[in-house]
Amino acid sequence: MPEAPEVQNVIAYLQQELTGAMIEKCTITYPGLCSNLSVEQFEHDIAGEHFRSFYRLGKYIVIELDDKDLVSHLRMEGKFLIFNNRAEFEAVDPIKDGKHIHAEFDLSDGRILCYRDTRKFGRLSLYEKVKDWRTLPALEKVGKDALDESLTANDLFEAVKKRKAPIKNILLDQSLIAGIGNIYADEILFEAGISPKSAASHLSLEDWQRILNAARRILAEAMRCGGSTIRSFSYGTGHAGSYQDQLKVHGKEGKCQNGGTDVVYTRVGQRGTWYCPKCQIEK
Ligand SMILES: [Zn+2]
Repeated sequence: MPEAPEVQNVIAYLQQELTGAMIEKCTITYPGLCSNLSVEQFEHDIAGEHFRSFYRLGKYIVIELDDKDLVSHLRMEGKFLIFNNRAEFEAVDPIKDGKHIHAEFDLSDGRILCYRDTRKFGRLSLYEKVKDWRTLPALEKVGKDALDESLTANDLFEAVKKRKAPIKNILLDQSLIAGIGNIYADEILFEAGISPKSAASHLSLEDWQRILNAARRILAEAMRCGGSTIRSFSYGTGHAGSYQDQLKVHGKEGKCQNGGTDVVYTRVGQRGTWYCPKCQIEK
């Protein structure tokens, strides 16, 4: 699943390609894609709108149009693809199986933006424009973004004081801190030197400061590298990231960067987890 760095790179791509473009016509072929409107309403309401501004909150993409706000979550496999014209759209190999194209946006300049999702978990929500997009219903349960500087270690420390869940699960809870998924949670806890199995309630304020610092450094560096391309993450037509080359524990069973051979694979709260019991202390 794309996490904050991958989503940020998708946004940069969409922003560069789409800012100012107008949606002439929209066709939704998988009704489940529209989370808050009927297909007919969605197609009707979005026609004639221009792409204005792009934002990210956690793993969500927020797009301000003229009179509407569009919110997208890619979930496991959602991808936006842009083609210069219909001939190009129909000629490109990976999308010949049209069944995975769930939305097609015909732009007034002749280009085609499409949304493809082999797993069908991704969602699009369309709302009347609001003053502050953070108040949109699709985002109301989402906490502050990991890179939001107004989020402090103390906020997190206070919020989970009484929670016995393992810290790994807490980092994946998007209502507490948004944007971290399974890959970066493992990397963040390795850098912070804390075992993913540690009970959240056992962490000190200093532990939280180390976790937050590690999260910000790792997410920012991964964004700079275009994200991590693991399994099938890519965006546009074949853009891919390179941060997977810098991963230290996730997927690295048996080889710790600090010299040992101790990285183990286990499950923490049902999620596959890699960590080094020697470098990461259980609290
Ligand atoms: Zn180690």
